[in-house]
Amino acid sequence: MPKKYHIHPKTTPLDLDYVYKFKIVRGENCINCGKCSKVCIYQAHKRSEADPRIMADPNTVVCRNCFRCIQECPRGALEKSLDQGYLSTAGAYWKPDMLISLWKQAEDGNVPVSGAGYRGPFTGTGFDSMWTDMSEIVRPTRDGIHGREYINTSVDLGRKLNHLVFGAEGQLLSKVPDTVDISLPILFDTPADKLSSSVKLAMIKAAAELNTFVIMPVADITAEFEKHSDNIIPRITAAEIDGYKDIINKARMVSIEFNDVLLKDFAGLKKKINKISRALLIIRVPAVKDVEYTVTKLAHDGAEIIHIAADYRGQELNSPAGSGSRHLKDVIRSVHQRLVEDHIRDEVTIIASGGIAMAENVTKAMLCGADLTAMDIPLLVGLGARIYEDREKFLVFPEGLAKIPTPVITQRMINLMSAWHSQILEMMGAMGIREARRLRGESGRAIFFEEIDKDTFGKLF
Ligand code: SF4
Ligand code: SF4
Repeated sequence: MPKKYHIHPKTTPLDLDYVYKFKIVRGENCINCGKCSKVCIYQAHKRSEADPRIMADPNTVVCRNCFRCIQECPRGALEKSLDQGYLSTAGAYWKPDMLISLWKQAEDGNVPVSGAGYRGPFTGTGFDSMWTDMSEIVRPTRDGIHGREYINTSVDLGRKLNHLVFGAEGQLLSKVPDTVDISLPILFDTPADKLSSSVKLAMIKAAAELNTFVIMPVADITAEFEKHSDNIIPRITAAEIDGYKDIINKARMVSIEFNDVLLKDFAGLKKKINKISRALLIIRVPAVKDVEYTVTKLAHDGAEIIHIAADYRGQELNSPAGSGSRHLKDVIRSVHQRLVEDHIRDEVTIIASGGIAMAENVTKAMLCGADLTAMDIPLLVGLGARIYEDREKFLVFPEGLAKIPTPVITQRMINLMSAWHSQILEMMGAMGIREARRLRGESGRAIFFEEIDKDTFGKLF
């Protein structure tokens, strides 16, 4: 039995102010009796250091929302209310609760618990309109992270053979292409050009520890990063290839931006890269209308790995939300179906990215037909970045981030991935799937709300 893949989380708090759902405020009618400091076991209430006769402002950061101090205050002086920062952060896709959840997962690597007493909606848009069939959850040996059966989350990237050919003597005649094996169905993508070099370095180190890769614009790969080339996928345009031969030579995979010339001469590009290196080629294709045609054509032309990239909400590019633009899950389903109809699905690896916000989105994207995913924003949210669905103010990094040492940032990324790994294991165990490779296109394990809705009520309304 292979050694179990295990991620080692370590509690790593960040001394930065973050988004909290409730704010606790002490009113002017407080008589400084100190009762709240006695009843709060989390020490949210303390006396002022400068003047111990009065109470300091409550520390919302450590509050666990038990409401005990509010009930016990003899003057009714304490008030808990929804925090304005919480209400103004994120948006329709990236909800404030998600930011808090990602922040906490990066803190200790634990799986968040939100099931008991859940009063929220059971469906939504994007990945939230997908439910997964957890009917195997009753099998204790398969019970996710606690079960005895080994659940494997590794996937391969590269071209696969449709079948093997053997000679008369039983010798293998097929030339088996190179593949790269990673332990999690997740690559890191670098989203913003304003990432500091310490965050980029931390991403690379976390990727190395987790046995995965960071996709990084080639111009960002400085001499400092080159020694980590085993875990970096340079992202490059076809026109830049000649200028970065050294980096391509050391890389195990190279991500090339799609352009129309590739549709006409993919073989020419492949030949050009092969002269420099044995790196596997990833073609990064924007998730636009007719992406099915592009992906299928590239797959027939011999592309090994195709990366379909939607926007940060998982929407198709070049089409405003609400204008009939599809979500990533629908794009992948359609691409997967087209490749199956063309009998070429098994030969090509599909990476899906854009709108991968939570661990369950990884599994759901794979059920829709992706072999693996790439994600970016959650890693930064785990470092305290806030996302606003506003073009002017999209990702806002905390002021103190530049002073945080790289090992701390690295560990928080590892913690986040540990929490995601555990959640993926739980979902796979509950679905009765022990190999992440078998998640791909397993849509029989998913229920799509839109389809159920249409089947049930479509004829009536
Ligand atoms: S219990 Fe109420 S009155 Fe007493 S110190 Fe706390 S807030 Fe003030
Ligand atoms: S609500 Fe509970 S945890 Fe929060 S400050 Fe009051 S006593 Fe402490």
